[in-house]
Amino acid sequence: MTDIILESITKSYDSGSRLFRRRKFSQIWALQDIDLKVSSGEFVCIVGPSGCGKSTLLKIIAGLEKPTSGEIQRPENIAMVFQSAGLLPWLTVEENVSLPLKMKGLSAKEARKQADFYLHLVGLQKFLQKLPRELSGGQRQRVGIARALSVKPDVLLLDEPFASLDTITVDDLHADLLEIWSQFKPTVIMVSHSIEEAISLSDRVIVMTENTIKKSIPIIFSRPRQVSQVGFVVAVTKIKDLIR
Ligand code: ADP
Repeated sequence: MTDIILESITKSYDSGSRLFRRRKFSQIWALQDIDLKVSSGEFVCIVGPSGCGKSTLLKIIAGLEKPTSGEIQRPENIAMVFQSAGLLPWLTVEENVSLPLKMKGLSAKEARKQADFYLHLVGLQKFLQKLPRELSGGQRQRVGIARALSVKPDVLLLDEPFASLDTITVDDLHADLLEIWSQFKPTVIMVSHSIEEAISLSDRVIVMTENTIKKSIPIIFSRPRQVSQVGFVVAVTKIKDLIR
């Protein structure tokens, strides 16, 4: 598997209203001077204030956005999980996960078999024939994770996947995500709004401010991690100080 390497990445967007044709468009710099290496199999979390470029960085790594300048090297097989699972409401859970597999060329039977395997892995074996609206928020997010995993990605990107869920559900999903990661060892890059979440899950926390990477902080204490663990609160304070 390949490492992800970003060199001197910048991303700008035009801003300004098209109603005023003569108005000069100004540029918003969503990302500036991004240099980042994420090793194959590493679990990295990105934190930072709203608007600092976290989602843009993830989209560039996913190939959903093109950088304005800079070089990027990444594996081909990348899957992404968004904040809202993005399921198709008229398809069952099983069909939602099978669809990308069929689009990749698997037969309907093979796609269903593979979908069922990953839905079982995230504890949804009893929900295969349900529609997304019949699931809780946490279950829908599990379907999103199963769908992303089912294509056997080298890289799993997650954009605040647990932001709208209650803490008990989030704790369960954290445990599942770590279990899946240790079993399949994809490279994981996750944007998080929670410093505590980033520290409990990742090998390294990337702190972004003002549209660039301010610091990369390795988290070396053993998993499973607890807030009561030596070093946890110190790490939280260190990151909060960097963001302030
Ligand atoms: P974050 O995920 O950290 O909240 P984003 O990556 O979403 O930040 O956005 C970074 C900056 O780029 C913000 O100023 C945002 O308004 C701007 N931006 C993001 N996407 C677009 C877009 N499609 N068009 C114009 N500006 C954008």
